[in-house]
Amino acid sequence: QQHHQPAHDDSVTGRYSDIERQYHIDARVLGSGHHGSVRKCQDRRTGKRYAVKSIQKSQHSVKPAGLRREISLLTEMRHDGIIGLRDVFEDAESVHIVTELCEGGELFDQIVERAGDESGPGCFDEVSAARILSQILNAVQYLHDRNIVHRDLKPENILFDSKDGASIKLIDFGLARRHDDRREGPMRTVVGTPYYIAPDVLRKKYDRSCDLWSVGVIAFILLAGYPPFNGKDNAETHRAVSRGRYRFAAEDWKHTTSESRDFVRRLLQSDPARRMTVEEALAHPWIIRHSRGP
Ligand code: ADP
Repeated sequence: QQHHQPAHDDSVTGRYSDIERQYHIDARVLGSGHHGSVRKCQDRRTGKRYAVKSIQKSQHSVKPAGLRREISLLTEMRHDGIIGLRDVFEDAESVHIVTELCEGGELFDQIVERAGDESGPGCFDEVSAARILSQILNAVQYLHDRNIVHRDLKPENILFDSKDGASIKLIDFGLARRHDDRREGPMRTVVGTPYYIAPDVLRKKYDRSCDLWSVGVIAFILLAGYPPFNGKDNAETHRAVSRGRYRFAAEDWKHTTSESRDFVRRLLQSDPARRMTVEEALAHPWIIRHSRGP
């Protein structure tokens, strides 16, 4: 009994338990991110398969408060487009977050595969792109309705539920936070990933609309196969984002409609006040046209 209890109050959950008693964990790593490595695991009783992200607490960048926040946000999530939490374990070394398993891989890998295919148009065709974006927007609307900002929307954090590629799930709430734009002052901490980070985040004064910029960048990439803002290193990419200038190069966009370009344009607005909100984006004609029907 005694040795199951954490020795220090820097524990994340306040309680130690052995994940191996309840789950068998695969040796092979499915993916790894900033802090954790993700593996498949199997409930020993039911035989059902899940994903487990194991985060070593000794890493300097891992803060107990940050992990607690990620777990508490995930605990709340009940939406088809957002990864569902199953269990959390903590032992002396690690925290293990058990979630639903996505068998279809990252949207990122699909982009790389399709962008490298010289035969087809840009990357995703308009219908597939709009269907993916409409699902992303539904998940973001669920978050924003609850005053949660994701702050790290990118194709690495969007997984296909299954190999058929029909439905997606948002993962990684490591940078997400609760923020009520109406009652609180702006957020000021610069967080995100260079290609996808909004200029207002770089200006250290932003609200939930930073997520819509990232959706705009994802939309651009899905249609063109490359990012709108780029540079030889992070600093140069950040400067390109801050400048906010990008173009629809004719040769890469000739297969697209003016409607999809209008959608991208209304999201990639440097002034967050001019950027579509998630409701407006969901009501955009391009999204409406493709999110209905089979
Ligand atoms: P980190 O917070 O350390 O960045 P992520 O939560 O982003 O970790 O997960 C890292 C990678 O692991 C993902 O990009 C993905 O490839 C894989 N992964 C994460 N969660 C799942 C899941 N539920 N099912 C399948 N693969 C997953």
